[in-house]
Amino acid sequence: MEKTLELRSLGNTGLKLSCVGFGASPLGSVFGPVSDEEAIATVREAFRLGINFFDTSPYYGGTLSEKVLGKSLKAVGVPRDQFIVSTKCGRYKDGFDFSATRVTQSIDESLERLQLDYVDILQCHDIEFGSLDQIINETIPALQKLKEKGKIRFIGITGLPLGIFNYVLDRVPLGTIDVILSYCHYGINDTTLEDLLPYLKSKGVGVISASPLSMGLLTENGPPDWHPASSELKAACRKAADFCKEKGKDISKLAMKYSLCNKDFSSILVGMKSVQQVQDNVAAAMEVVKGEKDEEVLVEIEEILKPVKNQTWPSGIQ
Ligand code: NAD
Repeated sequence: MEKTLELRSLGNTGLKLSCVGFGASPLGSVFGPVSDEEAIATVREAFRLGINFFDTSPYYGGTLSEKVLGKSLKAVGVPRDQFIVSTKCGRYKDGFDFSATRVTQSIDESLERLQLDYVDILQCHDIEFGSLDQIINETIPALQKLKEKGKIRFIGITGLPLGIFNYVLDRVPLGTIDVILSYCHYGINDTTLEDLLPYLKSKGVGVISASPLSMGLLTENGPPDWHPASSELKAACRKAADFCKEKGKDISKLAMKYSLCNKDFSSILVGMKSVQQVQDNVAAAMEVVKGEKDEEVLVEIEEILKPVKNQTWPSGIQ
């Protein structure tokens, strides 16, 4: 396959991310076990096919994702200036802690696990579980100090409820937050992130859209046991996946293509744990470039998913 994966600018950062981003949570064995050999082969294939963006967190697999990603990046040996790594802070296996002390210590631990001197982006992880005022007044200033020290290049925030982004961005000076990462809000079953794009553009913030497969809902194998969706949403997605299969199509490829078509997202961050998944997701991007659409099947899938369109689940302090 040609190495022609599209690169897209991330807000005002100057970074150019591959439109398919590598979500490394599966390397923490959260979607089933992954051996080191499989992880290394998967990361190697990602580079070969033009993926340059890798996202992880100390939370994924209780630090395992960062360790395995670090090991894989080292084994593959691509020069550091040719890839972009984001990790997170504030969410850990043992709970949430967005204090300046914890996040300052956390980046050093992440860098050690990742075997890197700096990360490109450090994001406050799932801020709806913390005090948003603490994020604004304590966590972000701590991250700015890390930026000055050269341990991180850019600052981001992540979470599920879309309202958190306006709340924080309205209360920090312009340019303080470089990136937002939203998940499960731009795919066939939920497109609510689209409404926020004009606002995010006005703030000069880069947008990463994660979980285009709705954390496994839009896959033939279905979601993991821990998936928080309602049984109604799970059943509708199951029905859509089965329908696709009957039509000789793969729901995951359709879902990837759907998300990739919106170029306002710098990267569509998809979790991957095998060489095959990397190849399939990059192939989806290539089909978008070639203008290969699946309009007929897509219309029918959208009809199946209509009763659950934009249905989400609670997340954070209620
Ligand atoms: P996803 O929607 O990307 O789905 C991942 C699942 O789909 C995994 O089981 C994976 O093995 C499988 N898969 C991938 N490609 C496939 C294909 N072509 N065919 C069939 N199955 C395929 O969900 P995700 O992994 O949770 O999200 C992607 C990434 O985004 C994460 O790894 C993480 O880096 C990031 N993320 C961040 C947050 C946050 O910051 N709060 C939340 C969710 C995700």
